[in-house]
Amino acid sequence: MKRKPNPVTKKISKVNELLIQKYGLPYRPQNPPDPLDMLIATILSQNTNDKNSFKAFTNLKEKYESWDKAADQQRSKIEKAIKIAGLGKQKSAAIKNVLTTLKRNYNRISLSQIVNKNDNEIISELISFDGVGLKTASCVLLFSLRRNICPVDTHVHRTANRIGIVKTKTPDKTFEILNPDLPDGVAHSFHTNLIRLGREFCKPAKPSCLICPLLNICEFDKKNLAEHIQYKRNDFLLLDNIK
Ligand code: SF4
Repeated sequence: MKRKPNPVTKKISKVNELLIQKYGLPYRPQNPPDPLDMLIATILSQNTNDKNSFKAFTNLKEKYESWDKAADQQRSKIEKAIKIAGLGKQKSAAIKNVLTTLKRNYNRISLSQIVNKNDNEIISELISFDGVGLKTASCVLLFSLRRNICPVDTHVHRTANRIGIVKTKTPDKTFEILNPDLPDGVAHSFHTNLIRLGREFCKPAKPSCLICPLLNICEFDKKNLAEHIQYKRNDFLLLDNIK
């Protein structure tokens, strides 16, 4: 007998369907990016916007012809190259640590050893690097390895809680509750469109509820129904533009 989908799965499916109606299926490059490129791009994306982190990633790739060359540099040189992304000291230390640890452990600066592992094994391996958390590790799984895993950043955490998919206090808890109930094949559209919803309609202060595509199913009890705030298109997503 076929099991009925649980309420979380049903709600995710409905949200995914409404967001695809609004935004369409998000762009996805034909060839997924290399896992190590993705890991480094995601480290760079912490606490900044996608345009600045994209520029920092491009600077790094242009400056060093390989990650081997970058690993041999002083941390301060990496910091200079990624300045535009902010938190330069912290991010350059994390990048340098990933590169040198890979070299030391595998005698090769690559993440090719993870591709045949399961999701949990990959997450454990990636979060063992200093400066790499659950969100960064899960971005490698979704964007590079094309697993059905939804990374949870501040937008996904806020919107999933407001809509009523989860009731959690932290992004990591949202990740833990959301992912086991994710319907097959929806992770990329759900994650990407939810981020866009969070940037354009469901902002932290004064969400534009009156014109939100999820108004009829959203359970947020502090909806902003008083003001109609014009939204600005914001659909550039760094992690689908890494080459
Ligand atoms: S109705 Fe309002 S609170 Fe709910 S998802 Fe839309 S913008 Fe966010």
